[in-house]
Amino acid sequence: VSLSGAPLAADDPQFQGTIFVIRNITDRKRAERRIRYLARYDALTKIPNRMQFQHMLQQAIARARRTERGIVMLYLDMDRFKEVNDAHGHETGDAALRMVATTLARAARSLDFVGRWGGEEFVVLLANVTDFNLPLVADRARRLVEHSELPLADGFLKVTVSIGATLVRKGEEIADILKRADGLMYEAKSAGRNRVVVRL
Ligand code: GH3
Ligand code: MG
Ligand code: MG
Repeated sequence: VSLSGAPLAADDPQFQGTIFVIRNITDRKRAERRIRYLARYDALTKIPNRMQFQHMLQQAIARARRTERGIVMLYLDMDRFKEVNDAHGHETGDAALRMVATTLARAARSLDFVGRWGGEEFVVLLANVTDFNLPLVADRARRLVEHSELPLADGFLKVTVSIGATLVRKGEEIADILKRADGLMYEAKSAGRNRVVVRL
């Protein structure tokens, strides 16, 4: 509720006091919450959108600065996704996008974040990863997608992703991290797709 009060300015001291108005603002609050949610989460996949992911990345970078721990950025792009849409229709394409989002989000540990960067591109942020286990962690994401199946009326749909993986450098700008990860993802595409290219 919202509560507002105003003093009663009666001449008779017996009638002095305050008048309160209590309003039910449940609907307004619900609408505000919904707007906040829609601004941060992708409507199709229900995972953080680009804006929210950038915000979480910024926070993770600040935390890592204090703890001296490494952060890894994965940039994923679905392979030949246009063909999926063309062959099975946009609805099935949407379902495939949801499947990949769910696969990645379920695989994430409590410190990891998965976001939809846009279109058929996803981003993953991993904390506490070393340059030693980065290739393993990145390839695990690739394999999880490769082995996921979307049930269709006449069988199963499988999709793959190409991944660029890199460590976030100290003091680096978010735009530069993403540019490097995106460039590595394109190298993975050129090398044949369904693979990971790692560069520290
Ligand atoms: P590549 O392996 O080179 O990445 O090939 P690609 O076909 O995935 O690349 P391209 O960029 O040509 O196509 C991306 C496609 O993703 C085109 C677009 O229709 C589709 N797409 C983007 N967003 C959505 C969406 O929200 N739903 C569906 N169904 N398709 C989407
Ligand atoms: Mg793309
Ligand atoms: Mg693609």
